[in-house]
Amino acid sequence: MLKGGSRDTGKLLMERSVPGRMGVVTPLLDVPLQPMPDASLLRDDLSLPEVSEPEVVQYFTALSQLNFSIDTQFYPLGSCTMKYNPKINDEMAFLPGFAAIHPLQPEEQSQGALELLYRLQEFLGEITGMAGVSLATLAGAHGELAGVLMMRAYHHAQGDTGRTKMAIPDSAHGTNPASAAMAGFDVVSLASDKDGNVDLEALHELAGPDLAGVMITLPSTLGLFDQNIVEVCRIVHEAGGLVYGDGANMNALLGRTKLGDLGFDVIHLNLHKTFSTPHGGGGPGAGPVCCAPILAPYLAAPVVAAGGSNGNGSVGTYSLSSPEQSIGKMSGYHGNFGVLVRAYTYIRTLGDAGIKSISGNAVLNANYLLQALKDIYYLPYDRTCMHEVVLSADWQRARGVSGLDVAKRLLDYGFHAPTMYFPLIVHEALMIEPTEAENRDTLDAFIQALRDINQESFDDPDFVHHAPHTTPVSRLDEAGAARHPDLRWRPEA
Ligand SMILES: *Cc1c(COP(=O)(O)O)cnc(C)c1O
Repeated sequence: MLKGGSRDTGKLLMERSVPGRMGVVTPLLDVPLQPMPDASLLRDDLSLPEVSEPEVVQYFTALSQLNFSIDTQFYPLGSCTMKYNPKINDEMAFLPGFAAIHPLQPEEQSQGALELLYRLQEFLGEITGMAGVSLATLAGAHGELAGVLMMRAYHHAQGDTGRTKMAIPDSAHGTNPASAAMAGFDVVSLASDKDGNVDLEALHELAGPDLAGVMITLPSTLGLFDQNIVEVCRIVHEAGGLVYGDGANMNALLGRTKLGDLGFDVIHLNLHKTFSTPHGGGGPGAGPVCCAPILAPYLAAPVVAAGGSNGNGSVGTYSLSSPEQSIGKMSGYHGNFGVLVRAYTYIRTLGDAGIKSISGNAVLNANYLLQALKDIYYLPYDRTCMHEVVLSADWQRARGVSGLDVAKRLLDYGFHAPTMYFPLIVHEALMIEPTEAENRDTLDAFIQALRDINQESFDDPDFVHHAPHTTPVSRLDEAGAARHPDLRWRPEA
């Protein structure tokens, strides 16, 4: 049972029930009184709590405050970019003209919304150096699937059906191989070299007539810029393959370099990471796909075109269209519109210089942590990092404190844990992403916490091993909770 928080949540709502206590006031009857249905149709086995409205509000608010969130704590979850999301983005998304519009509203009544989508396509194309953009995909993984389906459609359109292999680095996010497999490709693992770059020799071996392409994350999930990236693209193209870019973490590169200029053919962005939408807990998201001209005919429908007409030519210059050889629809309508409004607002409020400052600050913050911690946490790839730094708890492990223990102990210090045990090629990985949103005071406090925990690994490893000590619940069976969620209250038998 949950304890703690700002209010006592020790009792479940059902257990607070007091017969006769009411949380609702039913309005006066404005229709003729009707007799109740036959008694055999009535149930009395439904136990509902009898509680007042303030009790309900206090109960659920207190429960919500037991969670960590970006609006309450530092949340350095590597790869996930849990950063501050300006509230003005929400305000814009809540404007009635955006929030209340129906996706099936005719185009001539939706010109403002379509114009926003069109302009967002243009911005994202400019930012990534790509010619075509579709906003229809609803998450990073969803964009990946669309992108690899486009690669497949392209090869098939060339009559090139023998390209069955998709090469993916061993450091990749798990969604990459999953998306490639869903699109029907055989996934082959591409080794990293000792510096954390794609191993060019391994790539040469794979680059042949059966290679459909590679999926590269840039920066890699080691938080590193692949120094061979231009060469990687060249080798793959020379072998007739295509290069997919996982651009989930574009806050490292914004305004500095464009994936299109580096040689990528198709990429996705995670608007809910880089372009500011609160996320976690499963959504909502948006994973637009941006591509080079050769792949634009295959983009998921719809895309927004300018200069269209509604048929009589008098109203409307923006219209939805389906690219010639589109892979089809990937979602019901035009994508997660509210997330797209937030991304558009974010880009407009920041402007050119603001967009560039994101990558500057994200990279500076991560390197500040790297420098302040590398004497006490093992740094497997000792290079300047990008927006995140991957450390290892190997040295602490030798004293009986694992990466998991360090992460759990951080909760006691008031910080959300970093991503752990990912990427898989780093033993006891602690993948820390401070994001551009945090100031130096927060980073210093976090550094101090990690230094203190390291000291504890000498003085009292067992104490760290049993952390957290101050949270409402301590170590949970996380897999069990996900596999067998128990969300229903049942009266005691
Ligand atoms: C988050 C992430 C994804 C997947 O994005 P979702 O929106 O969660 O599907 C893919 N690749 C990388 C590198 C990511 O960080």
